[in-house]
Amino acid sequence: MKKRTDIWNDIKRTKSCEVLILGGGVNGTCLMRDLALQGISCILVDKDDFTAGASSKSSRMIHGGLRYLENAEFKLVREAVAERNRLLRCAPHFVLPLKTSIPIDSWFGGLIKSPLIFLGLPVSVGGRGALIVKLGLSFYDFITRKHRQTPRHYLLSKDKSLKEIPGLRTDIVCTATYWDAWISQAERLCMEMITESCLENPDCLAINYITVAKSGNDKVSLADQESGEEIAIAPKIVVNATGAWVDMANKTLGVESKFMGGTKGSHLVIDNKELYDAVGDRMVFYEHSDGRICIVFRFMDKIIMGSTDIRIENPDDAECDEAEVDYMMTTLKGVFPGLTISRDDVVFTFCGVRPLPSSGLDYTSRVSRSHRLEVSQPDAERGFRIYSMIGGKLTTFRAFAEQTADKIMAEFGKTRTVSTEERPYLGAREYPADDSAKQGWINRVAGANELAPKRVADLLERYGTEAEKIASEKDAAEHIPLANLPDYSIGEIEYIAENECIRHLSDLARRRSIITVIGKATEAALAELADIVGGVLDWDDRRRKEEVDLALKEANDGK
Ligand SMILES: Cc1cc2nc3c(=O)[nH]c(=O)nc-3n(C[C@H](O)[C@H](O)[C@H](O)COP(=O)(O)OP(=O)(O)OC[C@H]3O[C@@H](n4cnc5c(N)ncnc54)[C@H](O)[C@@H]3O)c2cc1C
Repeated sequence: MKKRTDIWNDIKRTKSCEVLILGGGVNGTCLMRDLALQGISCILVDKDDFTAGASSKSSRMIHGGLRYLENAEFKLVREAVAERNRLLRCAPHFVLPLKTSIPIDSWFGGLIKSPLIFLGLPVSVGGRGALIVKLGLSFYDFITRKHRQTPRHYLLSKDKSLKEIPGLRTDIVCTATYWDAWISQAERLCMEMITESCLENPDCLAINYITVAKSGNDKVSLADQESGEEIAIAPKIVVNATGAWVDMANKTLGVESKFMGGTKGSHLVIDNKELYDAVGDRMVFYEHSDGRICIVFRFMDKIIMGSTDIRIENPDDAECDEAEVDYMMTTLKGVFPGLTISRDDVVFTFCGVRPLPSSGLDYTSRVSRSHRLEVSQPDAERGFRIYSMIGGKLTTFRAFAEQTADKIMAEFGKTRTVSTEERPYLGAREYPADDSAKQGWINRVAGANELAPKRVADLLERYGTEAEKIASEKDAAEHIPLANLPDYSIGEIEYIAENECIRHLSDLARRRSIITVIGKATEAALAELADIVGGVLDWDDRRRKEEVDLALKEANDGK
């Protein structure tokens, strides 16, 4: 990508586009990629950093949504499973299969409740027994049988389960295990989609930290928060892909809407060796006594657990509060009573808002996770149409973007020329198919660039095959390990600062990398990063210090 100032200058020069996309989460960036591939010019702007919303704050599950079967959302499950399988094929550098185990309390619990939920009748909360889970998983296996990419489910006796998952509650009757998938870096996948859009279509531009407002009949005003400059651009269509902020963003364009009814969800990142060993290579998926689903799984050398589900009015207010930390620690200790886990083990907390459609349901877990498009027609005050993308999931973003792009193309009288269905994401191009091919790739790139194989292996894990660009654009002398983060090199950080539209240090620490998420954003590490990024972006000492403070705040504010 170009430098941020150059992107802003390009927008100032262009001043028009076919589609203006508001929101650089997974839905906005994927829509941009799709439209860019069809030859449609787009400008994508975000009021914050790209992926600052739910897309960097999710549970990272790429799943069919076993739970949605109870709500009879078969179409959603089918679509989600198809998208999960596509992501496993098209983004193997970030999306991997995930074994998932459910501890089960009884054989026959939920036999009445689940059918009632299925029929849409009110039910009390409480656990599901082995029989109903078995039925659900058999059905899940059945509808996922086409193009099967993950093994079938199985039940395991209590004794065997306790051997496999030490420290687990002993009052279970068995566990059920099935497979879904997870995404290691949704944030980087979004950056790949932005980069690909700009590479494939020079008429596409994306920029963060832009404030949007209405400006006259046919125009939208964009204000750059860095320079304070403001310009008006004339899009033919505006797509509101701002997730939980959809109604607020519509209001800035003069449209009153009440599409959204988001809930906040918090997660804990935990550093605890006993828990890490007990969980192993699986996710533990359990229902707390209040009916809330919680998950626990390994993330790099830490554990992520979550989440809560609490209604919230203003998504900007969302943060993980003390009561949520207490709640999550209680559920975790309840499911792993045999382990010593303490609040001091929590190294990071984060909170996002699910962009759920507004709904009268009390029990938020039952609000549909499907998506839809709402159209606000032009009127006397506004000459352009606004498409609002409502709902959706990290799993189904490609399908949602495709459906939106098809509607927009129809409006322009164009037809689709490129399918995104089986198109590999940037870092998945020529991605090695197995461990031996991976080693071959690492040895080749290491040899060609005089780098240690370990350095190349780290880059491959973080950037997929895009790693080769970093390995080759920075010569070996620039790949010096950081004193505080020895897995990262100076050249690698410089590359990100030069190419990925960084405005703040926290963009790099929290969203272009996982440094903050895994609890490694210490003051010393951030100061070292600020010196490298500041060198690229021309920050003086005062700015470097401000950026360190801001990134430290972001590492500790639970947002
Ligand atoms: C706690 C939690 C757990 C989840 N777990 C999962 C999961 O395991 N699996 C799964 O599939 N899905 C999960 N989801 C859902 C998934 O994360 C979201 O559906 C998805 O990320 C939504 O993407 P989006 O692009 O619509 O919104 P977002 O990612 O929220 O992006 C919206 C963007 O719009 C920007 N914006 C806001 N207002 C404006 C404006 N006025 N102008 C310009 N830009 C603006 C924001 O800064 C933000 O970057 C979870 C969500 C949460 C919160």
